[in-house]
Amino acid sequence: MKSSGSRAAIPKRVAALPRHPAQAKAEPNSPPCHECAALCCQYYALEIDAPEDAEDFETLTWYLIHGNSWLWVDDGEWFLQVDQPCRFLDANNACTIYSERPSICREYGLPDDEAHPDDPLCDYFAQDVEHDLEFREPREIRAYRDDFLRKRAKEKKRRSEAAKRGWRKRRAEA
Ligand code: SF4
Ligand code: SF4
Repeated sequence: MKSSGSRAAIPKRVAALPRHPAQAKAEPNSPPCHECAALCCQYYALEIDAPEDAEDFETLTWYLIHGNSWLWVDDGEWFLQVDQPCRFLDANNACTIYSERPSICREYGLPDDEAHPDDPLCDYFAQDVEHDLEFREPREIRAYRDDFLRKRAKEKKRRSEAAKRGWRKRRAEA
């Protein structure tokens, strides 16, 4: 098994593993799995650290050279998604280990906030929602990297020059 051994490779939290089988009957405050093609069973996504340097971007590029892997960012939080159906999903989009499915499968799609039980929470309701940023090809993350590192170098230079000016001013006033 390959391993990047980098900080960015360590998942911080699971973002959206599937939790409900498509054949589950609708229950109050539960997602409409009975009329869904098991959208949430078709992939998994893990939160990763936001890239900070060139090495981090190399790791992200490594993710993207693998098939069916892509990155997305919402509210500054970065996620690695792998579009790969669960091995226990059958041809009818039914879960074949329903009674033993992982807890993350059981909990997904259920309202977090009892005061707002109708809030759309699962993929069934969010199919058309776009992420703030999406990267599907290595060239896309490299272009973002170049821009990110260029801006950061510029900001670093600006801060350094401001600090020098402040130091000279204080010395002149001493
Ligand atoms: S995406 Fe939502 S409705 Fe579809 S199977 Fe998953 S939890 Fe159920
Ligand atoms: S274990 Fe069942 S509910 Fe969980 S992802 Fe697989 S098919 Fe879906």
